[in-house]
Amino acid sequence: MLFYRLQFWMIEKTDFVAGAPCLDFINTVGGHRDGLNHDQLGAYDDLLDWAVAGGLLTAARAAPLLAIAQAQPERAARTLRRAKKIREALHRIIGGYVAGRPPAQRDVDTANAEIGQALSNLRLRRVADGYEWCWEAAPMTLDMPLWPVARNAGDLLSSDELGRLRECASETCGWFFLDRSKNHSRRWCDMRDCGNREKMRRYRGVA
Ligand SMILES: [Zn+2]
Repeated sequence: MLFYRLQFWMIEKTDFVAGAPCLDFINTVGGHRDGLNHDQLGAYDDLLDWAVAGGLLTAARAAPLLAIAQAQPERAARTLRRAKKIREALHRIIGGYVAGRPPAQRDVDTANAEIGQALSNLRLRRVADGYEWCWEAAPMTLDMPLWPVARNAGDLLSSDELGRLRECASETCGWFFLDRSKNHSRRWCDMRDCGNREKMRRYRGVA
């Protein structure tokens, strides 16, 4: 029997601070994008770990996907490349929006292709008092973790929450988040991390 490797999780719940899964996905690279340092998605397994940690994929679904990835490493590697392609396209679209720059059409095309792919797997499911959206479960395909990310990106980019998009105020962070604070005053991706570091810098008089 195949158990999902909960014990190997490197990705923490606290990495999900952005307020939208597509932003958390972009944030799987830390710092500014030169050379993609600190990339949490080193292998396809990491993509599964990330999706399970973020509640986008159940462990029950991740287990068979892990088995497929282990049996077909080339396909898994291809899916990971695709994941990074959409992630970097979203990074440029979101970063451009925050900076007031128009997006490149090829990035919008990349996002649209993934959104179309994702939505073709969206289904209605009968529940006790009505219906709910769910993702097609069969056949299991390696791109499943990308579906909720692509859908969320489409939802966010077409929503009026776009005005709440921010980039962390830390010079070295580069993470994006939605500022849902009442007075629009959130400056840090995470108070415990960048916010605290900044407070320490000021305290030491380095800032
Ligand atoms: Zn930050």
